Amino acid sequence: MARYDLTPVAVTPVSTRYRTIQTKLPVPESLPIFRALEESESPSMMGQPPIVWHRAEGFQVWDRWGNKWIDWSSGVIIANAGHGRPEIAAALREVVDRSLLTSYCFVHEQRAELTKLLASFAPDPANYRVFLLSTGSEAVENAIKLARTWALDKHGPHKRIIVSFENAFHGRTLGAQLAGGMQQQKRWIVGEGSTFVQVPFPDGYYCQDISFDLFLKTLREKKVAPQDIAGMITESFQGAGVNLFPVDYARRLEAFCREHDIISIYDEVQAGFGRSGKMFTYEHYGVKPDIITCGKGITSSLPLSAVIGRADLMAQYPPGSMTSTHSASPLPVAAALASIKLIQQEHLVENSRVLGELLERELLRIQAKHPDVIGCVHVKGLVAGVMIAKRGSREPDPDTALKINVACFKMGLLMTAPVGTYGECHKVAPPLMITEEALRESLQVYEEACDQVLD
Ligand code: PMP
Repeated sequence: MARYDLTPVAVTPVSTRYRTIQTKLPVPESLPIFRALEESESPSMMGQPPIVWHRAEGFQVWDRWGNKWIDWSSGVIIANAGHGRPEIAAALREVVDRSLLTSYCFVHEQRAELTKLLASFAPDPANYRVFLLSTGSEAVENAIKLARTWALDKHGPHKRIIVSFENAFHGRTLGAQLAGGMQQQKRWIVGEGSTFVQVPFPDGYYCQDISFDLFLKTLREKKVAPQDIAGMITESFQGAGVNLFPVDYARRLEAFCREHDIISIYDEVQAGFGRSGKMFTYEHYGVKPDIITCGKGITSSLPLSAVIGRADLMAQYPPGSMTSTHSASPLPVAAALASIKLIQQEHLVENSRVLGELLERELLRIQAKHPDVIGCVHVKGLVAGVMIAKRGSREPDPDTALKINVACFKMGLLMTAPVGTYGECHKVAPPLMITEEALRESLQVYEEACDQVLD
């Protein structure tokens, strides 16, 4: 976990249209808040740059002390339509003023509107159904349950293996972590892993073999017979490094799943709602997932997730047997409708695609200045992963990644703590409504931070 120093230090003041830094950082007055958290909260919640968010609008974040940052985090890829959008606030206000704060599983009008809209994003809308939940992990758990129920009832108890990918992240609950591929996060799981099998992800950097044959070979080595596999789950792009499948790999994987009646689950919790320059990232591959999980950017604000699945899979559980207390809660539903409307009306998917090209060009240029440290740059739409390595190698360098991250923070560019299996990856994920001018300015800051730390 990244450790940020909480000793306030003087930094060079910054004052541009989009960024202001006018205090020491961290702000001395903010320290009592961090102290209160230290005394009362689980330490596992910490680990991000020491800013106390006070206001967030569009692609910027403010603290209470007059500092403002350009945001490359989107609040960990939530605020796809932008932070604090008045349109989303107005939609929430309408529901609040009407006094409908909860309804459990009783129907309200906007629930039908949202399920219709989400189903319309499926590969074949008439034959898909939607199940609303609260978190991404919950969506993943339910997707696994649907796949395994299908395999059990259609084929028998031998067909129960879930295949997923090394370095994958699907959430922090038991099933999601069993499917996840970050070994150090799974240390606590003892004796339950035998039906969850991971294969290498063809990222082209740590795993140079990007052929589908490696998938088949790994299954053979692990003695997994295709007829025993119930489901395959993958992030549509791996968040750990912004890694996508080669298209041919994805198509062969789809054919393999079809041949053996393996339910394919594309986890779009991070990749959905325009992030990669398509509404959903699976669209880049030309495949038809049986189940899509989504969350995060679905509302740009409140907690909501969804499973979008083939109608026959979704019909396995009768009314009342698969619910969650806050499924379709009225406020998150209103937020989702307003946020998706903004993404559509403001052509934010297209903005993501177009500005993604600029982002890629610029990051590759910065990499060319520091080729022995910036190991690889992966970009798709407005999401990028920049891998920092020990000079002249591919060995991850989390310390240097953190130094650059801190340098950006001090200059008014906010990123999440470095991600990736070792904390070596800078994740670039601004709200999709960022302008070209602000994106260029933020890239200049990133370049300056790299130059400062690496030269
Ligand atoms: N799947 C993916 C791909 C994710 O990125 C995440 C969250 N980072 C999750 C699942 C889990 O979502 P949540 O934190 O809402 O449970």
